[in-house]
Amino acid sequence: MPTTISFNNHPIEVARIFCIGRNYAAHAAELGNAVGEEPVVFMKPPTAIVPPSRPIRLPRDRGPVHHEAEIVLLVGRDGADSAKDIIGIAPGLDLTLRGVQDGLKEKRLPWELAKAFDDSAPLGDFVAAPADFASIAFECRVNGEPRQHGEMHRLLFPVPRLMTFLAARFTLRRGDLIFTGTPAGVGPLAPGDVIEILSGTAGNARWQCE
Ligand code: ZN
Repeated sequence: MPTTISFNNHPIEVARIFCIGRNYAAHAAELGNAVGEEPVVFMKPPTAIVPPSRPIRLPRDRGPVHHEAEIVLLVGRDGADSAKDIIGIAPGLDLTLRGVQDGLKEKRLPWELAKAFDDSAPLGDFVAAPADFASIAFECRVNGEPRQHGEMHRLLFPVPRLMTFLAARFTLRRGDLIFTGTPAGVGPLAPGDVIEILSGTAGNARWQCE
C-alpha cells in the first residue's frame, strides 16, 4: 500500500525520502564528524513515516533513540531540479538509533539499521513552501523543554544546492521528500515523552512517544 501525505487537501503519494546529514556545523561538531565537500545523503523508506495523529513507537533494546528535528521539503514535479520545484515544507524528525549508528560507522557499514527502522520518520502536516528557505527557523521541545533550535540560513548546503546535487544523481519525482538536516542539541527520547517542533513558517507538530 503506498504511503500518502496530504498537501492542499490533495493526497500525494510519497515517492522516496532523502535525508541530508551533517548540514549544520554545530551538530556535525557535537557528534565529532568532519564536514565534507559534498552533502551526506541517506534514505528512509516511506513506510517509516509517522503522521502527527499517532504515537511514535520507539524501538526497545537497541540503545538510545535520538531526536533530530528537521525541516522536510516536498518535491512538486517529476524532473525537479531547483528550489522552485519544492511546493511544501513540514516539520519532521529523523529518529536515529545512535548507538547502532556509532557501531555501524566504526565498522564502515551502511546506516539503514540506525536510520530506516519502523517509525523513524515522524512527519508533520505540509504547508506551502516559502519563497526564501533561508528564512525558516524552528525549535524542538521535549516535554516542554527547548532542545534544538534551527535557522536554515545556517545550512552548510542550502536548499538550492541540495536540489542541484540530488537532481544530478537521482531523477527527482513529485512526492519525493527531503529531510534537510538537524541543528545541534540532539538527544535521547523515552517512552512517555512528548516531542514538539514549532516553526512560524513550517507549522507545528507534536507526538507522544510510547
Ligand atoms: Zn538527520
